[in-house]
Amino acid sequence: MRSNKGRKLLMIPGPIEFEPDVLAAMAEPTPSHVAPDFIEVFGHALDQLREVFAAPDGQPFVVAGSGTLAMELAVANLLEPGDAVLVVNTGYFSDRMAAICTRAGAQVTHVRADRVGGAPRLDEVAHALQAGAFKLMTITHVDTSTGVLTDVAGLAQLAQSSGVLTVVDGVCSVAGEALRLTDWGIDVALTASQKAVGVPPGLALLVARPRALETFRQRRTPVASYYADWSNWLPIMEAYQARRPAYFGTPAVNLVLALDVAAAQIVAEGHDRRVARHVRMSNAIKRALQALGLGQVPVAPELAAHTLTAAYFPQDVDGPTLLAKTAAAGVILAGGLHPEIRARYFRIGHMGAVNAADVLGTVGAIEQGLSAAGYAFAPGAGLAAAQEVLLTAA
Ligand SMILES: *Cc1c(COP(=O)(O)O)cnc(C)c1O
Repeated sequence: MRSNKGRKLLMIPGPIEFEPDVLAAMAEPTPSHVAPDFIEVFGHALDQLREVFAAPDGQPFVVAGSGTLAMELAVANLLEPGDAVLVVNTGYFSDRMAAICTRAGAQVTHVRADRVGGAPRLDEVAHALQAGAFKLMTITHVDTSTGVLTDVAGLAQLAQSSGVLTVVDGVCSVAGEALRLTDWGIDVALTASQKAVGVPPGLALLVARPRALETFRQRRTPVASYYADWSNWLPIMEAYQARRPAYFGTPAVNLVLALDVAAAQIVAEGHDRRVARHVRMSNAIKRALQALGLGQVPVAPELAAHTLTAAYFPQDVDGPTLLAKTAAAGVILAGGLHPEIRARYFRIGHMGAVNAADVLGTVGAIEQGLSAAGYAFAPGAGLAAAQEVLLTAA
C-alpha cells in the first residue's frame, strides 16, 4: 500500500523528483511510434532540446538508454582506432569516459586534478593540449562522484584554439548549470533524462554541432557499436524533425512524451532563471552544512557544482547510520561513489524541480539524522543558515 504521508523525498543525484505533468505523460496510453500525433511530439521535443542545450545549430539525438549510452554515442562516433584523446579528469565519470574512448580504440591521455575534489587548472590543460596531437578532448562538466564543477567555457576555448573537438559530459549539468554549446564552441554535449532534465530514467540525450557531424561524415572506418552508430539514428532524428515517420529501433515512446513536457517546462523557465534557482538552492544547502560543521569534497567554493553537494561525514559519525536516520526522517540521500573516499562522504542531489521547501525539508531531515547518529550541534543551525540564503537571494 502506498500512502502520501509515508512517501520520502528523493534527493539524490538522479533519478530526481519529477514534476506531476511529466509523470502523467508516462501514464498516457502508448501511441505508435509512427502515429502522426507522436511524430509531432517527438519533433517538438527535438526542437526544444536545441534550446535546452543552447545549440541553435545543433543536431539533437534522443535514444533509449542511460547516460552511459549517451557518453558512448558521443565518442564512439567521433573516434577511430589510434586517435588521441585528452580526458580532463575530475573523478569517477571522467574515468568512465576514458574507458569508453579506450574501447573505441583511442589512445587516452589524462590531465588530472592533483587531489580528489580538485580540477586541473586551465594552464595545465593548455600545456597538455600542446603536448600531443589530440583529436578530441572530453570534459565532465559536473563530476557526480565529487561534486566538482569544471570551467567548461574556458576549457572549450582552449580546445577550440588548438583545433581539438570538445565533448562535454553534461549528465549532471544540462538544465541545471550554465551551459551554452554554440556560444562556447562545444562540439558535443550529452545528458540523461533522469538528472536535471527531469524525466524518469531511460533516455540518452545528445546534441552534436556541425564540426562534430563533419568529423563523423569523414570517418574511414565504421563505428564499432551498431546500436550507437549515428548512421542509424541521424536519419531518424531528421525524419522526426521534418515530421515524417521513420524507424530504426523502437523509441521509448512514453519517455519521449514525458521529455516533451519536461523540455517545455525548462524552456518556459528560461536558461538564466533556471541556473539562478539552482545556484540559490545549492547555496542554501551548502551554507546549512557549513553551519553544521560538515566539510565539502570540492576543495574550493568555485569548484563546487550547483546541482549536487558532496560533503564529508563529521568525525565520529557513522555514515550508514546517518543516511539511514535521514531516510527515516523522510529524505533519501546518496552515499559516496569515488573509490578513494567512498566511505567518508555522502551526496545530496538538488536539481530539476527542487524548491525551497525541498531544501528546508532536506536540511531538517539531515539535522534529525545527525542528532540520531549522536552528533552534537545546535538544533536548527543548518535550517537557519539555509533560510537566510532563501530569504535574501530571491
Ligand atoms: C549519472 C552520470 C552518468 C551516467 O549516467 P547513467 O544514466 O547512470 O548511465 C555519467 N556522467 C555523469 C556526470 C553522471 O552524473
